[in-house]
Amino acid sequence: MPAELLDGKAIARNIRDEVAAGVAKLAPRGIRPGLAVVLVGDDPASAVYVKAKGKACEEAGMHSVTIRLPVDTSQGELDRQIDSLNADPAIHGILVQMPLPRQIAADSVIRRIKPEKDVDGFHPVNVGKMLIGDSDGFVPCTPAGIQVMLQRSGVRTAGKECVVVGRSNIVGKPMVALMLQNAPDANCTVTVCHSATADMAEHTRRADILIAAAGKTGLIKRDMVKPGAVVIDVGISRVEDASSPSGYKLAGDVAFDEVREVASLITPVPGGVGPMTIAMLLSNTLRAAERGAW
Ligand code: NAD
Repeated sequence: MPAELLDGKAIARNIRDEVAAGVAKLAPRGIRPGLAVVLVGDDPASAVYVKAKGKACEEAGMHSVTIRLPVDTSQGELDRQIDSLNADPAIHGILVQMPLPRQIAADSVIRRIKPEKDVDGFHPVNVGKMLIGDSDGFVPCTPAGIQVMLQRSGVRTAGKECVVVGRSNIVGKPMVALMLQNAPDANCTVTVCHSATADMAEHTRRADILIAAAGKTGLIKRDMVKPGAVVIDVGISRVEDASSPSGYKLAGDVAFDEVREVASLITPVPGGVGPMTIAMLLSNTLRAAERGAW
């Protein structure tokens, strides 16, 4: 029997409704959660993401600010912009859309954002808190969304083999850190594969929960998946598609049709992990505002 679909869209919708209810609860106290998104340059894909984030904020009743800066913005100018958002009481969350133009050091920008407003969870203070299992920090939105999706779909994680493919700072590494915590929605035995892994299939075939975040279309094939595994596809790549009006379609890291034949649960691309990422951004921003409110 083919795997059931893990419906990220529906779970994300529920989270967004919960966030909207949380936002409404703050209103009588004169608090409106605010998210500032900074976009440097005119990368079309980034512009689409930024627009979607702003729209989602407004839909949840949040205050949303998008700051668009020219592609030749200097490090100093961007730093000053971040300092001003750090000091702005109407802004509870700050997100700088990546990638940044070459003249700007992304690491330095991430460190400039106040950890209390770092709703992307990339600041070293928040990364450290996540690693030691301190729930007081912010967790990066994509891995946080995957963990919530597993939990709300009733996937039992404790004692399971979890294999993560990819070791980036925004997906792979935080995913590993989350799934190995001594917590009911984690407690996995975790393996991480990456571009230098010698025999990846040897590892992925052991996975009860397989999380693919390599950005390589169709990397995970049927014979790399254990029968009955839960398969989470984080990858989003554009592939040519003459039948689509845009000339392309989105594809994940998992060869969906063949892997669906052996997995028990699988996320589609699009409509799986993607919607969860935005939902968790809203959830983190609400939490930042609630915290500031005490
Ligand atoms: P990245 O390029 O920073 O990292 C990719 C990782 O995959 C690297 O650590 C690399 O070692 C590993 N890798 C590359 N080729 C490999 C191979 N052949 N075998 C094993 N490992 C390999 O990418 P990222 O930012 O982590 O994103 C990964 C994918 O997830 C991309 O397609 C990206 O678009 C997508 N993404 C989706 C969301 C979402 O919301 N759905 C969010 C973030 C990223």
